Amino acid sequence: MNKKVVVIGSGIGGLGAAGLFAKKGYEVTVLEKNSHPGGRANTFEHDGFRFDTGPSWYLAPDLFEHYFKLLGEKISDHLDLARLEPSYRIFFKDDPEDVDIHSNIDVDSKTFESIEPGAGDKLRAYLNQSEYQYQVATQHFMYKNYDTVFDFFTKRDDDRRTETLCLLENA
Ligand SMILES: Cc1cc2nc3c(=O)[nH]c(=O)nc-3n(C[C@H](O)[C@H](O)[C@H](O)COP(=O)(O)OP(=O)(O)OC[C@H]3O[C@@H](n4cnc5c(N)ncnc54)[C@H](O)[C@@H]3O)c2cc1C
Repeated sequence: MNKKVVVIGSGIGGLGAAGLFAKKGYEVTVLEKNSHPGGRANTFEHDGFRFDTGPSWYLAPDLFEHYFKLLGEKISDHLDLARLEPSYRIFFKDDPEDVDIHSNIDVDSKTFESIEPGAGDKLRAYLNQSEYQYQVATQHFMYKNYDTVFDFFTKRDDDRRTETLCLLENA
């Protein structure tokens, strides 16, 4: 008889775990308190408009690709992605000037600069720091299990150095 697993919650995390258990041959039941799956990654409709309740950005595409690979699937067989231009448009109440974000650092830093002097450079610095943190997270934390407290003490020297740097930069 197959081993049974119950996953509580059908957000992206729960559905992701359920898919991996099912791939390993477990009999999976997903319990969800709401009437529909998706958790924070959802939409609602009002007056003919559809609104995202959570994510709008397809962040970390490599992590999604990795996940589909674990399932033995090609992500392009499941997702039909189209890059939006502009990526994002912000409407302000009582202000006719919209702000567009383009996923182009040269264009976007000028937009930030026009709103607040100095913000263009701050945006670049923020994105550089975010890229660094993303690399540290994916290379050293994301795919490592911390099953016991001892896992925190078994790092290689280079892991320790990177994490210390990260902590210092965030201090
Ligand atoms: C406004 C907003 C914007 C965001 N923008 C982005 C973005 O642009 N890009 C991005 O990548 N991420 C974004 N995120 C983050 C992303 O939405 C979340 O990280 C992700 O959806 C969380 O998934 P999860 O499965 O961990 O949790 P959740 O989505 O919270 O799922 C938990 C599920 O468990 C269910 N549940 C809880 N308790 C019980 C119970 N006792 N019994 C049964 N079911 C239960 C809940 O109903 C829910 O369905 C955004 C989040 C928000 C809120």
